[in-house]
Amino acid sequence: MAGLDPETLGLALDTLRDFAKQRLPLEVLLEYDARDEMPLEIVREMCGPELGLQLFFVPEEHGGMGAGAFDVYRFCEAMAAIDVGVATGLLATFLGSDPIQVGGTPEQKSRWLGAIADQGILFAYGATEPEAGSDLASLRTVATPVEENGEVVGYRLSGRKQWISNGGVADACTILANTPGGPSWFVVERGAEGFGSERPEDKHGIRLSNTAALTLDDVPVGLDALIGGAEGLGLLQAQAVFGYTRLMVAAFGLGAGWAALDRAIPYSTERIQAGGPLSEKQGYTHKLVVPHAVRLEAARAYIEETAIALDSGDEGLDCEGAIAKYMATEAGNAAAEDAIQALGGYGYTREYEVEKIKRDVRITTIYEGTSEIMEMTVARSRWQLHVKTRGQHYHEQAAALETLAREQPACGADVAALALHALAEVMERARVGRLTRNQHVLLRLGEWISWAECAGSLARRAAAAAAGRLPEKSDTRFDARALQAVSRVFAREAALSIANEGLRWICGADAVPAEGVPELEKALGLDAIHRAQAGLLADTDAVADALYGRA
Ligand SMILES: Cc1cc2nc3c(=O)[nH]c(=O)nc-3n(C[C@H](O)[C@H](O)[C@H](O)COP(=O)(O)OP(=O)(O)OC[C@H]3O[C@@H](n4cnc5c(N)ncnc54)[C@H](O)[C@@H]3O)c2cc1C
Repeated sequence: MAGLDPETLGLALDTLRDFAKQRLPLEVLLEYDARDEMPLEIVREMCGPELGLQLFFVPEEHGGMGAGAFDVYRFCEAMAAIDVGVATGLLATFLGSDPIQVGGTPEQKSRWLGAIADQGILFAYGATEPEAGSDLASLRTVATPVEENGEVVGYRLSGRKQWISNGGVADACTILANTPGGPSWFVVERGAEGFGSERPEDKHGIRLSNTAALTLDDVPVGLDALIGGAEGLGLLQAQAVFGYTRLMVAAFGLGAGWAALDRAIPYSTERIQAGGPLSEKQGYTHKLVVPHAVRLEAARAYIEETAIALDSGDEGLDCEGAIAKYMATEAGNAAAEDAIQALGGYGYTREYEVEKIKRDVRITTIYEGTSEIMEMTVARSRWQLHVKTRGQHYHEQAAALETLAREQPACGADVAALALHALAEVMERARVGRLTRNQHVLLRLGEWISWAECAGSLARRAAAAAAGRLPEKSDTRFDARALQAVSRVFAREAALSIANEGLRWICGADAVPAEGVPELEKALGLDAIHRAQAGLLADTDAVADALYGRA
């Protein structure tokens, strides 16, 4: 696998956690949060000569560490477990320099990536506008060419960017603007004439990050500021790294979700109610803790598979990045929400941190593409595969899982296969009935696809753990046996919800006459999926035991 060796990764994670323990203990985080202030000095220190955490995101040839996607996922998870706002400040530099990494000329790469590596300068990524969020193509910022003797010698940028992380503190920003040749990225330096930022937004969460609007009033830039030296490449450059950047935000969801559970779990072992600790009460653990741990681990399995694919040289992976982000951030958000409940009244107060984690993690389902845009991306991409393979794509994936289940019967692959077969049937009914004309059905497909694919990934991860084949750099929170129980719990939920919800919306779209419903139920494998729920309670008990360290 490309990237760092396990020892170097371990060392970097330890360095990050040690630094956070000293410089960002809970009371400091809570103070900054209450003051709604970015700890700029601390972020600069993180990117300074001693720590150099920004080197994680810079390629080796420009002075970085040469970390791969897997390393970056582990690092982003660890950062988010400390504070999603601080993590966002670091991520913004990476996002901001992304268009340069992807499409910059050799001179641009050497200048800007070198400055990030050597001087620790902070970047911001200026894509969103007041009128252009999910739909970036409607951007209004313009870059007007400046001509001398009939030749373009530079541009003048005018417009406004909204919600820009590091917007008020970055040393340089990448700005997406319309040129005569189409949307293009420009690098604009802090202090450039006509370039300014507004006061920081008063936000719901990630209050330790700076988010500000940028104003561009006829800002002059040279030709060398046009990334890649050619107009019209902006949207392609932005899309080229979605697989990678969305994986990072997925890791934020994972880190924050686990951070919330890691507060709820110890709390519940000490909180005595009705004669015993809450951790001993099934109605508590099986509702507020276990389901979230299971969903987070399903997302982790998908993140790890995607990271390995990226590190093996697979390109694009736009859809995979979207599935990872969607599943991990939704799981992280739900976990943090229930962590408040798990701490009762204490959870609702600032001092116990879970309410801050909940406010912080919420952004991960919004920035770098909202959950609804992820559902759309996933549905559209996999729809093409479904049509291209004449409906066989997910049946084939299910068959591979059935083979795995014969080798490793305990890893949940048999039930994950039921989920994938049901998904293939739902998609085929949707195709025949032309149901994706209804946007709601299309987006629900995005959700079911994500669940089914994560069930497959988790079963494969559980099987790999049982065979002692997990990558050395993997997270090892669960041992192989517990991971199998985690996988079985998730696969049951995935299969049942895909079949039930699929049936609901196929019937809901009037695509099946009443007399056709029994045949549809059979095609979806509902009987088998119901029977596969046997053992769910025992497996949920087993996951709870693993989480609480009970034998
Ligand atoms: C704290 C913070 C930091 C940010 N940092 C940055 C940054 O550094 N750089 C940057 O460029 N941007 C940044 N953003 C912007 C962020 O990426 C956008 O807010 C996000 O992409 C959504 O765009 P929007 O806010 O315009 O919402 P809209 O696009 O207006 O969406 C509103 C709602 O409608 C839904 N929706 C949108 N389109 C459709 C559709 N076609 N069909 C169905 N539903 C749809 C969305 O899912 C959402 O629920 C940041 C935002 C915040 C809040």
